[in-house]
Amino acid sequence: MTGAAESRVMRSIADNICAMRQQIAGIAANCGRDPDSVQLLAVSKTRSADELRQAIEAGLRAFGENYLQEALDKVAALQDQEIEWHFIGPIQSNKTRPIAEHFDWVHSVDRAKVARRLSEQRPPHLPPLNICLQVNISEEPSKSGCLPQEVPTLAREIAVLPNLRLRGLMAIPAASDDPLEQRRPLAALRQLLEQLQSEHPALDTLSMGMSNDMEAAIREGATIVRIGTALFGPRPTKQKESP
Ligand SMILES: *Cc1c(COP(=O)(O)O)cnc(C)c1O
Repeated sequence: MTGAAESRVMRSIADNICAMRQQIAGIAANCGRDPDSVQLLAVSKTRSADELRQAIEAGLRAFGENYLQEALDKVAALQDQEIEWHFIGPIQSNKTRPIAEHFDWVHSVDRAKVARRLSEQRPPHLPPLNICLQVNISEEPSKSGCLPQEVPTLAREIAVLPNLRLRGLMAIPAASDDPLEQRRPLAALRQLLEQLQSEHPALDTLSMGMSNDMEAAIREGATIVRIGTALFGPRPTKQKESP
């Protein structure tokens, strides 16, 4: 392990959250945005319920999970907490019911069938499920997300479903360490949202920006940044990482 990675592990989750809050506020101020217009979503895949409790004590209440069974275990373990749960991973259409029952947001809807099932299965006593349409903005083969040209039709189909509330768009652009390269797909997603807003004026969410491209994402208008590594340290290598 390198020295830098090690010191990130050693710093507490609370310290990382505090530093991240300041960083987000600094970037937002720097590009003339209200810092409160950028929500920090803690991506807690592979993290234990205890680690989430540390983050909750440091003031976070929104968590993003990718793997359904792992997420449901944490939902059960943390029932005593006021948590806003976001599902951000790939969705199998036969696994929509627990998502509809236990989550507040789903960022990874990329087809109408999944949206219809989530709406049908949303329990009537809960408010509508907040939805972002995931877009394969870099048009990478075999990646999740609908194609940019499919967005208008899918948005129309989702907008009429009674138990869903379409909020905006989400993307995981092709990874790059070059800030200029990073901005291109992020800007494309923002433009897609702007076009969509002429037909759906209530849309207010751009879910984009991870530990590596957060600054570029905020500059391009992100309203939710999804941050894992920079808060909790490097993940165990059990699941595949972006290249
Ligand atoms: C893992 C993950 C993140 C967080 O990535 P980091 O690089 O750890 O910040 C954000 N969004 C999605 C969809 C993810 O799967």
